[in-house]
Formats: sequence, C-alpha cells, structure tokens
Amino acid sequence: MTQVRAVRVHTLGGPEVLQVDQLELPDPGPGQVRLRHTAVGINFIDTYHRSGLYPLPALPHGIGQEAAGVVEALGPSVTELAVGDRVAYAAAGGAGAYATARNFPAERLIPLPEGISDEVAAAVLLKGMTAEMLIRRVYPVQAGMTVLLHAAAGGVGLLAAQWLAHLGATVIGTVSSDAKAELARAHGCHHPIVYTREPFVPRVRELTGGKGVPVVFDSVGKTTFMDSLDCLTPRGMYVGFGNASGKPEPFDMGLLAQKGSLYLTRPTLFTYVQAREELLASAAAVFDVIARGAVKVEINQRWPLEQAADAHRALEARATTGASLLIPG
Ligand code: NDP
Repeated sequence: MTQVRAVRVHTLGGPEVLQVDQLELPDPGPGQVRLRHTAVGINFIDTYHRSGLYPLPALPHGIGQEAAGVVEALGPSVTELAVGDRVAYAAAGGAGAYATARNFPAERLIPLPEGISDEVAAAVLLKGMTAEMLIRRVYPVQAGMTVLLHAAAGGVGLLAAQWLAHLGATVIGTVSSDAKAELARAHGCHHPIVYTREPFVPRVRELTGGKGVPVVFDSVGKTTFMDSLDCLTPRGMYVGFGNASGKPEPFDMGLLAQKGSLYLTRPTLFTYVQAREELLASAAAVFDVIARGAVKVEINQRWPLEQAADAHRALEARATTGASLLIPG
C-alpha cells in the first residue's frame, strides 16, 4: 500500500468538481507496475470526461489520459520493465493520470529515450501521436498539398502545423486571436486566419485559387463543421477529431454528395494505437521528429496538481497555447 494524491470527479460538472483526494494505492497487480508521476499532460478530452460529454463508467472516477514518470514497483509477471525505468503513457489504461502515482498496465507503457525529458513526454505523447495519426495514417499528407487545420495554436495544433510543414505541406490554420496567429505562424502555419473575426471559407478559397483544400483537420466541431465542408475540393476529406466548441449537429448525409462526393471520418487515437506495435511506432515517430528538430514542443502552461480546476478553466476559456502540464510535486 502507498498513499497517493489523486484528482477525482465525484459529480459531473464544471472545473469546480475536480477534487483532490488522498487514497490508498494497493500494490500493483499481475501485469501492472506502480508508476510515480513526474509530469502529467492536460488534454481537452479531460474536460469532456469531467463534464460528462464523454461518459466514464462510474463516479467517483479519476481523470487524465497522459503522464510520464518512474517505475517504482513491479507487479507479478512483469519482466520487460525494471524499477527506475523512465516511461510514459497516453490514451490507455483508463482515466487517472491526475495523480502522484498509479498502478498501470506494463504493456501500455512507452519507454522514454534519453533525449526526451519527462515533461516533454507528458506534453507531447497524446497530442503528438494524435498529430501523427491524423497526417500520416488518417489522411497521408503529401508534399505540395495545402491543408486546413483548425485551432492551430492549441496543443495538437502547434504540433500538427510544424509536422505538416515538415512534410512539405502548406498549412492554413485558424486561431482566435492575433497573438495566437503569430504563434501559429512561428510553428509552421503559413496562413493563419483569425476565425473569430474573419469567415474562413472565403479566405481558404482565396488562398487556394478557388480550388479548396483536399483535407480539413477539425477539432473545434460545432462551430466549424459546416463551413469546413465548404473548404473542401470535390472528393476531399473532412477529418473531425474533437469538439472544443461542442458536438456538431446531426446532419443529412446527402450534403456530402451535394458538396462534391466528400469523405468524412471521425478518428480517435485509442483505435489507432490499440495494437502495441502501433503504439510504439506512433510514439517513435513523434520522438523522431522532435530529435530531428522538425517539431518543437511548447510547454506554455504549468500548474501544481492541486490547481487542476484552474487548468481546466484556462483550457476551456481558450486562454492556453501549446501544451499544458500538471506537476504532481
Ligand atoms: P487545445 O489546446 O487545442 O485547446 C482547444 C482549442 O480549441 C482552444 O485553444 C481554441 O483555440 C479552440 N476552440 C475553438 N472553439 C472553442 C470553444 N468554444 N471553447 C474552447 N476552445 C475552443 O486542446 P488539445 O490540444 O488538448 O486538443 C485539441 C482537440 O483535439 C480537442 O478537441 C480534443 O478533444 C481533440 N483531440 C482528439 C483526439 C482524438 O483521438 N480524436 C486526441 C487528442 C485530442 P482558438 O482559441 O484558437 O480557437
């Protein structure tokens, strides 16, 4: 048994429902290790779990999908890891990363290479593997393409913009302020559009000589879905991967025909890293673009574990850029 501090959700609601509990952590079970967290990644999905937009099994439940740390104890039958190993995880093992330590399935852990610090790992794994999934596997982007990326100064946004530029694509990105436009521009976004001031459809048409883009990566959802379809070339693909502004309204599938035989997909990272080989390959691709200097990880906000509610307030108020961390302390 070990004492841990864990942020938990006892009732669904706003950031104020996040509560720090003192808990007894049992010894790790078969196939598990006890992981001491050194840095915890904050992701927009955590706000959906807290509010109930994405329901979790039963209350109270833990929260958080991503962390890095050190293996502190091994459960029975764990042979591939040793006490003291630096590891991280994302999008696996259930919610519960907002904690000083937890037991975690060894088979879902990613060993950290020397050049990747714990903080960088916790900041980049979930968002970076999402970017990798989107631009290499959901829609393999080729050099010379022009693509539209919403929320380009956000956590996933800054990583995806840099990676897209590295692949040789021209990136049109939407953001909500001039400051975010500058930040996005400094991270691979060739044409930032302040979509809270200027409608993005005519601008995308203008930037593409009227043709539109072959793919839109949209994590904003409700407020951008319909207009995004109007940015696509015939047979273009809408990739909806989030709901920062809420879920898009149900729509008539015939619209995809009317607007030019469009494709639509709604990927989740969970399905794209389910197999261990896929998980390790995706993480390795992320570490590789970082090591080569093609993608820089911007950790622009840090909060102590106890201030998780403030972190959620900032994320939902669009007041963050790049990645945010909770530091367990
Ligand atoms: P971000 O840092 O990108 O934060 C969300 C951003 O969305 C905001 O900064 C804001 O940028 C934009 N936004 C637009 N409208 C709103 C609104 N009404 N309220 C709040 N934000 C708004 O978060 P993450 O990088 O953690 O995640 C980005 C998105 O990707 C999320 O939607 C998340 O759910 C999704 N995601 C999906 C995954 C999947 O597997 N499908 C995996 C990982 C992330 P601006 O101010 O510039 O508009």
